[in-house]
Amino acid sequence: MARTFVVIGGDAAGMSAASKAKRDAPDTEVVVFEKGQWVSYGACGLPYYVKGEIETLDDLVAMTPEQFAERGVDLRQHHEVVDVDPEEQVVTAVHDGETVEQPYDDLLVATGASAIVPPIDGVDLDGVFTLHSMDSAKKVKSYLTQEGSVPEDEFLEGYGAEVHDYLTAKTPESVGIVGGGYVGLEMAEAFEARGLDVHVFEMLPHVLAPFGPGAAETVEDHLREQGVDVHLDTTVERIDEEAGRVAGVEAGGERFDVDMVLVATGVAPNADLAAEAGIELGETGAIATDEYGETNYDDVYAAGDCAEAHNAVTDAPDHVPLALTANRAGRAIGQTVAGDPTPVGDIVGTAVVKVFDLEVARTGVIDHDEAREAGYDPVSQEITAESRAHYYPGGSDLEVRMTADRESGKLLGASIVGHEGVAKRIDTVATALHADMTVDEVEYLDLAYAPPFSPVWDPVLTAAKVLAGKLE
Ligand SMILES: Cc1cc2nc3c(=O)[nH]c(=O)nc-3n(C[C@H](O)[C@H](O)[C@H](O)COP(=O)(O)OP(=O)(O)OC[C@H]3O[C@@H](n4cnc5c(N)ncnc54)[C@H](O)[C@@H]3O)c2cc1C
Repeated sequence: MARTFVVIGGDAAGMSAASKAKRDAPDTEVVVFEKGQWVSYGACGLPYYVKGEIETLDDLVAMTPEQFAERGVDLRQHHEVVDVDPEEQVVTAVHDGETVEQPYDDLLVATGASAIVPPIDGVDLDGVFTLHSMDSAKKVKSYLTQEGSVPEDEFLEGYGAEVHDYLTAKTPESVGIVGGGYVGLEMAEAFEARGLDVHVFEMLPHVLAPFGPGAAETVEDHLREQGVDVHLDTTVERIDEEAGRVAGVEAGGERFDVDMVLVATGVAPNADLAAEAGIELGETGAIATDEYGETNYDDVYAAGDCAEAHNAVTDAPDHVPLALTANRAGRAIGQTVAGDPTPVGDIVGTAVVKVFDLEVARTGVIDHDEAREAGYDPVSQEITAESRAHYYPGGSDLEVRMTADRESGKLLGASIVGHEGVAKRIDTVATALHADMTVDEVEYLDLAYAPPFSPVWDPVLTAAKVLAGKLE
């Protein structure tokens, strides 16, 4: 008899798995429950939608519900799964107030993550947003482009000043971003492009903590050059209101006037549903999985932002909620469910972000405490090199910070910051990490060279060479 594969969550991990299972084993009944309307969307494009570079939310959709239906996937939008019974192999979903029970042979939990909202006084006010879902992006953009519902000069006799202010509200002119992670900084660029005065409040000593303090300082200088007010070591204590709307934030003992607030303080895995079903969570709080993405229950899998992945550098479970990890694991699980057991693959924590004119990237382990915890004796080296041959016009400085283990010479990680060619280079380092290379071996990689693209010794080779020398 044909098997039934049930997927909870209709985005990167879930739809990759559903498509792959249906393609490889067409007889499988594939049922996807998605609690919202949107499926198979690129949340990574949301800052560019708010900025205006991407016109509509539909542009972010990779495949429509109709296309999934054509492929034979039974996609059920507006169905929220509220219970999983791994003993009976049944999930329960709610749709329009009605309860639906669905038995399964294989189950994938791909419920993603949610934006963390810290308990700041005033966080529920009109004008405070997060940016995690398509709907939240729409709300931010509408708020940015709003006009007052009543013109300023309209006679509002009988209404108090507060109602008058509310009805004549204007497009926001300033924003406070709580959190200097990559979403906060992408949004700083988006808000700035829309003409707002932008404040970024970061409670840690630097923005972009996973990229290391060296890279962060360059980013902070660049943000300030672009007119962004960067407040480091500054915790937002309270969001103030006037007439029910945001009027300012109190942070680090000071008050800043802002017309809206974006809370961008990271994400937490949506793992409660799984935990309540007895599916084990790992130390990171995300769902624990093996190399096939399988949980502690046979035939119950987890993938994407709700799940842990194996970090090849630390040789330990990790939670790095990024898109390729979700797509890759989902696809592998779809293949496994279709009868071809396929490992989901390791991660090395590779990430790249554009902050105005800067490209900022990281991979592997660059924090010394984290490296020591993983059993290494870390040594780091920072170099600055040109992005093109010195005589070729248009080049700029690239900063490469590379870390290796003193005893073995094993490459542990790197961050790269510059105006061009950063993403290409971090991928070289990521590949070397997957191949478990030493810095000596990286130094002798045969990388592409022509004057418009790099110096003869690419900055990655130079960094490896200098770091190898330091280890001798
Ligand atoms: C603003 C922003 C920018 C980003 N930029 C990048 C980037 O540049 N690079 C990068 O690699 N990553 C980026 N990411 C992260 C990337 O989008 C995620 O890693 C990826 O979407 C994870 O896919 P997923 O399928 O695991 O989860 P999600 O995309 O979160 O999808 C989970 C789905 O499950 C549904 N769901 C949850 N619970 C239930 C339930 N009980 N029943 C039914 N349905 C349920 C949700 O509605 C959701 O549609 C960005 C994310 C955001 C928000």
